This record gives sequence, C-alpha cells and structure tokens, in this order.
Amino acid sequence: MSAGRPLIVGNWKMNGLGADVAEVRKIAAALRAEPSRAQAAICAPATLIERLARAVKGSDLIIGAEDVDPEAGGPFTGDVSAAMLADAGARMVIVGHSERRRGHGETNDLVARKALAAVRSGLQPIICVGETEAERSRGGALDVVCRQAAESTPAGLAGEAFSLAYEPAWAIGSDQIPEPDEIEEMHAALREVLVAKLGRPGGDVQILYGGSVAAANVGGIMNLRHVGGGLVGRASLKAMDFLAILRTIDRATTS
Ligand code: PEP
Repeated sequence: MSAGRPLIVGNWKMNGLGADVAEVRKIAAALRAEPSRAQAAICAPATLIERLARAVKGSDLIIGAEDVDPEAGGPFTGDVSAAMLADAGARMVIVGHSERRRGHGETNDLVARKALAAVRSGLQPIICVGETEAERSRGGALDVVCRQAAESTPAGLAGEAFSLAYEPAWAIGSDQIPEPDEIEEMHAALREVLVAKLGRPGGDVQILYGGSVAAANVGGIMNLRHVGGGLVGRASLKAMDFLAILRTIDRATTS
C-alpha cells in the first residue's frame, strides 16, 4: 500500500433513489462512531448529491458526483457543471469512467477538460483509465492505459488535486481481477507517467485500483505497491458491503 490514508470511493452508477439515502446515512453513522483509517467517499447520481451531503454532515464521508460537463455554464441542455455539483455539496467527481468512454465516446481530451473544470470549482476529480479485454489480449494494455493517463491528466495540477484510478474495463462488474503483479506493474507505469507529466507533484497523486473490489479481496489489493486506494462499484451500494471493505482495511493496518 502507498503511504498515507487510502482513498476508497464508491461509484453508484445509475442506481439510487431517495430511499437509498438511508444506506449513506448508515455509513456516515458508522464512521462517526468508529472512524476508518481509509478516507471514504460515495459518488452518486446528481439527483441525490444534495440529500446525501446533508446526510453525512458531521462525518468525514465525502460525497461526490459521477460525471461533470467541462463548460462553466450556458446552452448545454441536460448537462451539469462543476460549480453546480460543488454547490449541491459534492467534493469529488469521477471523470472518464470506461462506461462513459465506451458508451458516450468520451476522448482523453474531453476527460482532461472535465478534470480541469472540476479542479477549478474546488472538486477533486478521479480520472479513470483502463484497457478493454481486446486491448489486453493484444498485449497492448500498458501502452493504452499510459497514453490515456498522459492525455487525460491536465498539465500543471498539484498532486493532491486529483486521483487516478486504474480500472481494467474487463474487471468491472465481472468478479475477475488482474494478477497482483499485473496491478503493480500498471500502477508503477502510471506513477512514471504522472511524474513525467507533472514533475515532483506526480509522485503525490493517489493511484486507485478499481474493478470487482470487495471485502474478500481488498486486503490483498491494498497491500500492493503503488496502490493508494480503490474505486468500488457494486459493493458500494449497500452500507454493509461498503463498511466491510473499510473495516477490512482497518483490521489489516492494525494487526
Ligand atoms: C466501477 O464501475 O467503477 C466498478 C469498479 O464496478 P465493480 O466494483 O462493480 O466492478
């Protein structure tokens, strides 16, 4: 595990109605009662952010969004700006998730513009990168992912201003994860990309792993070199599952 407090971010995707605020309330209450060594965050649909931000008051659970428009405002029907998300109570935002790159044709350039818009409004972007199954079978995963990271990271950012998440698209929602040495190799390569792009601040960026993270495997993943946290989909939807991840990390670091 990288030095410092691991960052564990839930990604609710297109899930969550008003009734599900109760799940976040439970996570916040558990963290108030017993803080975690990990910094926890839940990134949720824009419709829930204000309610979730209210529900976590007094805990250190962060609420974030799942996407942002790169523009500050204007004639962009249906889009949500970074300032709007911050105004609703978000402190983080996922950008460039593989589901958006694939399903909405998002390019590295667009992802970099979204990340910059987020930082300018005081949000911490989590810039996602990751290869497809086809890219992996061709042996091109390292090149694809490093290029995504170099081109999706805006120049001149401070290392604490954002995080990078390595999420192999084939590992998302599949219960398959790369071998430990594959994760370490990719994270080490991403660290080099960040340092080449940003200089010394590139050494401070937290690099998360995402793709089928759960309580059963998080201990092993967090122990890998250059892994600074996790991005969690399915196992973030229920308080019990998400808290099990956090408590596994706590147990691993106290034993
Ligand atoms: C994700 O969508 O970012 C993700 C990692 O999903 P899951 O944990 O369900 O694989």
